[in-house]
Amino acid sequence: MSNKAIGIFGGTFDPIHYGHLRLAEEMLELADLLQVRFIPTGTPPHRDEPQVSALQRSAMVRLAIAGQPAFVLDEREVRRACKCYTVDTLSELRAEFGDTQPLCLLMGGDAFLQLYTWHEWERLLELSHIVVGYRPGFTLEERIHGAPPALRQHYQQRLCAAAELSQQPAGRIAELAIPKLEISATLIRNRVAEHRTIRYLLPDAVADYIHQHQLYTSC
Ligand code: ATP
Repeated sequence: MSNKAIGIFGGTFDPIHYGHLRLAEEMLELADLLQVRFIPTGTPPHRDEPQVSALQRSAMVRLAIAGQPAFVLDEREVRRACKCYTVDTLSELRAEFGDTQPLCLLMGGDAFLQLYTWHEWERLLELSHIVVGYRPGFTLEERIHGAPPALRQHYQQRLCAAAELSQQPAGRIAELAIPKLEISATLIRNRVAEHRTIRYLLPDAVADYIHQHQLYTSC
C-alpha cells in the first residue's frame, strides 16, 4: 500500500502566524503529504468567554491559508460544545477517512516531549503516525532521555523515515528538521496590546482582521 498521508495540525492559533504556516508548509513538502488539516481548538463551555472567540481564531486560520490549496480548515473542534481531546478528533478522522488512509499528527518537538501528559496518549499512535518538527542541531534523540520510559520506548521502536509514512496508516514516528521561526502567538498578542507593529510576523490578512476587530487590545 502506498497512499499519501493526511497531516493533522491542531493548535489554539490565537492567532495563527508564520511559525505555524512554515511548519505546515515544510511538513507538507518533506513528508510528501496530501494535505494539512488545520484544526483550531474549541473553547470549553465552562471556561470564561475569552477575549477572542473560537470562531474568530478559526476565521483567522481561514484567511491565513487561503492561498495554499493543500491547506484545509477543519472546524470540528470549534463547533463542538464539549472539551475536545485529540484522541477523539483522531477517532473521528479515522472513521471518516477509513482504515487504510495514512494520517499524521503534526507537532513541534516540545509538544512531543510532553505527549505522555495527553489524554489516552498511547491510543494516538494506534490512530495515526506522529510527525515531529525539531530544530536542526537539537535532535529528539538527544532530548528523549529525560522523558518517561513508555514514551522513550515508543520513540525508539516506532521511529521511521518520512518516506515510510505512506506505507501504513498509523503507528510510526518521524522526525523532520525544520528551522523554527522565533514567532509565537504570545509575542503577537503582547505586541498588539503594546500598540507595536506585527507586520511580517503573520499574513497581512490576519493582521488586518486583528486590527479591524480590535482583538488582543489588552494582555
Ligand atoms: P502561544 O504563544 O499562545 O503558546 P503558539 O504560538 O505556541 O501559542 P499554538 O497554537 O499553541 O501556538 O501551537 C500549535 C502548534 O504549533 C504546536 O505544536 C507548536 O509546537 C507549533 N508552533 C508554534 N509556534 C511555532 C513556531 N514558531 N515554529 C514552529 N512551530 C510552532
